Amino acid sequence: MRITGMTRVTGVFGWPVGHSRSPVFQNAAFRSLGLDFIYVPFAVRPEHLATAVSGIRALGLAGVNLTIPHKESVAALLDEVDEEAAQVGSVNTVWNADGKLCGTTTDGRGFVRSLREDGGFDVCGKTVLVLGAGGAARSICGALIRAGAGRLFVWNRTAARAECLVEHLRSVLGCSDARCVDGARLHDAAFMKDLDLVVNATSVGMREGDAAFLRGELLHPDLFVYDIVYSRTTALLEAARRAGCRWLDGSSMLVYQGAISFEIWTGRAAPIDVMKRALAGAADLERGG
Ligand code: NAP
Repeated sequence: MRITGMTRVTGVFGWPVGHSRSPVFQNAAFRSLGLDFIYVPFAVRPEHLATAVSGIRALGLAGVNLTIPHKESVAALLDEVDEEAAQVGSVNTVWNADGKLCGTTTDGRGFVRSLREDGGFDVCGKTVLVLGAGGAARSICGALIRAGAGRLFVWNRTAARAECLVEHLRSVLGCSDARCVDGARLHDAAFMKDLDLVVNATSVGMREGDAAFLRGELLHPDLFVYDIVYSRTTALLEAARRAGCRWLDGSSMLVYQGAISFEIWTGRAAPIDVMKRALAGAADLERGG
């Protein structure tokens, strides 16, 4: 990689940021298309976010991604935020249009695109259960509704947060078919039988020993199980495989949300296969393979 005065700089602002896998696959994608771009991880403390955002303009960066804990707080520092990001209350991609900083979120669109392209699953008219009501769940629910999902059920450990999300989906996104479910429904065979898609959008599964939320015997071969945790194969996905479900893990969403950012910054179609290979290679190295 040859860096010159012409090289366009992109990157990710996070705190911490050392765990981010985006530099690996974004840089591989730039290289494979011969683009004079580079992607750099920037460790930005929350109290320095405003200064770092001014730095995008001052240093002429092409754009950045935002990760934890900046996705919600960055919007107020930008010149413009698109409708989807405003509705979801989260920005993960900023681009610099000649000094004007614009923000969007690619998490939800990346999720739906990965479902379609890697999973061969069209959400239109489908009945979906989303586990979780945090930032990722919010983006995913919004994108599911935009993509035409039929019925949408939300479960969350803290019920009040699920209620708040469902109220938002009904009032802001006009989804009258969104509702909360309590924990008992997750053990209800009739309820589970009616589902087409289950999405784990909680952080459960990230740690070794985390249990699956759903009982393996309630999973059925017509069910698609998507676990957005990307750092490991979760107990939920192992149960899904045993039950003969179709499934995807979070590395698919990670690549597609990054691919949309890449396309915004470069105007070129993202080389998805290159990104996937780079991500898989990095995961192998981490496992010591
Ligand atoms: P977040 O806003 O902090 O939300 C965390 C969610 O997990 C909340 O719903 C929380 O429930 C739930 N939770 C945490 N511990 C739990 C437990 N022990 N039992 C039950 N529920 C629990 O985080 P986020 O940004 O939405 O991220 C959630 C997960 O998605 C993380 O694993 C993250 O790495 C992953 N993610 C993946 C991608 C991708 O591209 N693949 C993108 C974004 C995020 P409460 O409300 O009750 O606390």
